[in-house]
This record gives sequence, C-alpha cells and structure tokens, in this order.
Amino acid sequence: MNKLGVHALVWVGGWSEAESEKAIAATAELGYDIIEIPVLNPEAMDAAVTARQLETYGVRPTTSLGLRDDNDISSEDPDIVARGEATLSDAVHFARDIGATYLGGVLYSKLGKYAGPATAAGRRNSIEVIARIADKAKAAGIGLGLEPVNRYESNVINTGKDALAFIDETGSDNVTVHLDSYHMNIEDGDHAAAIEACGDRLGYFHVGESHRGYLGTGTIDFRTIFRSLASIGYDRPITFESFSSAVVDPHLSSTLAVWRNLWDDGADLARAAKTFMESEINAAAKVRGS
Ligand code: MN
Repeated sequence: MNKLGVHALVWVGGWSEAESEKAIAATAELGYDIIEIPVLNPEAMDAAVTARQLETYGVRPTTSLGLRDDNDISSEDPDIVARGEATLSDAVHFARDIGATYLGGVLYSKLGKYAGPATAAGRRNSIEVIARIADKAKAAGIGLGLEPVNRYESNVINTGKDALAFIDETGSDNVTVHLDSYHMNIEDGDHAAAIEACGDRLGYFHVGESHRGYLGTGTIDFRTIFRSLASIGYDRPITFESFSSAVVDPHLSSTLAVWRNLWDDGADLARAAKTFMESEINAAAKVRGS
C-alpha cells in the first residue's frame, strides 16, 4: 500500500509553532503517514521545532513550494533567477533538517498566471537552476519532483509530457514527475496515458478533486487514475490536497484562486479523503490481482 499524505493547508494557513503542532497532531490522529509541508518562506520556518513535533507524533514529512514573481527561475532577469535559486537552496536545507526526502511542486517557475508564453531563455534559466538544485538535493538525500500545473498557474510545465521533456534536459537522475489529478483534469485528456508515460519516473501523486474539495463530489475519474497507478506499479506517496476559504495562507490561497468555501471541517474532509483513497487503492489492487 502506498504511504498516504495530507497537505498542511487542510489544517493551517501558517507555520508558527502552534500551527505546525496542530497540523502534525491532526495528521497523526487520522492515521495518515505523511504531512506535506509548504515551504514558501523557508528562511522564516523553524526546522528544529518542526522536526521535534514530527518525531513526537510519528509523522513523516514531504515538502513542496511554488515560486513567486520576485524569485521566478524561469525569468530572464538574472537577479530574480538568483533569488529563486537561493529560495530553492534554502528549501532543500529546510527539507533535510526536518528529515524529509522529497521536495516537489512548482519549483521551476512562478506559481501563478503569466501574461504570455514562457521564453526560450527563461526556460533555459529554469533548467540550469533545477539541474544545480537537483545535485545539491541529492547530496542532502532529497529527491526533487516537478509538478505540472494548469495553464493559469504556470507557462513552463502543464502536462506530464512537458515535465518529462524538461527533466531530460536537466540531465539529472534526481528529478521525478509529480502529477496532480486536479491539474491533469484540465490539461491531460487521457489520465491513464499520462500516468503510463511517466512510469517509474513518477515520484509523487497529488489527489485533488475538480473543485479541490471533497473527493467524490467532483467530476474526476478516480477509478481510472488509481487503476493506472496500480498498473505502473506505483508505490510512492499519494497525498490529498484540498483548499477552502476556511483555511487561508495569505499568499498561496490567493495564488490558487481559493475564493470559495468548499468545506469548514478539515478533519471531516481529511477523514473522508483517506477512506476514499484507501477504497480506490484496494479496488485497483483487486483488479490488478484478478
Ligand atoms: Mn498539487
């Protein structure tokens, strides 16, 4: 069975000592193996406190982030690119210091809507930085994952195929693809083909509904997705990601256009998601075994 994770934004919008404790304790209470911690401002997060809380509650961390306008490594401005490389480097150190072995997300560009397509020079900058960060991450025992996101959230990598081509150009063996059903629903028409194309280069999977609320209340064909994951022998983490205006990170929530209240009770939401994912994983295993 895959390790199951839950994104911290189901619990809290920030990462003060009290917030991280609340999120990690709630994750443990529901029996999730993993909490995914967004590392948007690594320099402002206390790794020692987080590491201690994870140890106390017996929860494993993964980490993720998206870059911003002022540290976008797909920019043509060398100062902005350098700032992004520093952020990614800090995030690798934070991940290492809390005992994580994975850093994923929109590491390769700004998370947000662009006014035009990516430029060749910008894409080249991003590839070069990711190649260098992948080396640093490898030395720290951390694998990187690049998450294709929909067209309104990046102009660099929108599909699994984009991610594979980009990773090939980095020349690194420490970068995998991080797929997300919410984004696939917008950009990847054939979910099974997208998952199969990644094969053993799929490093992480985000389960999110078409509206990013309760699983099973949107339009995504999770039956096909879980069967496809089983068919490629995917045994890495599967993490539930959901956002509501009930829990807000001032920057991330606006970037993701979380304007609507899709749920109030994160515990009820996460409990339902875990039951849903376990049921789909078990059903897919039975099909596979028969
Ligand atoms: Mn995601």
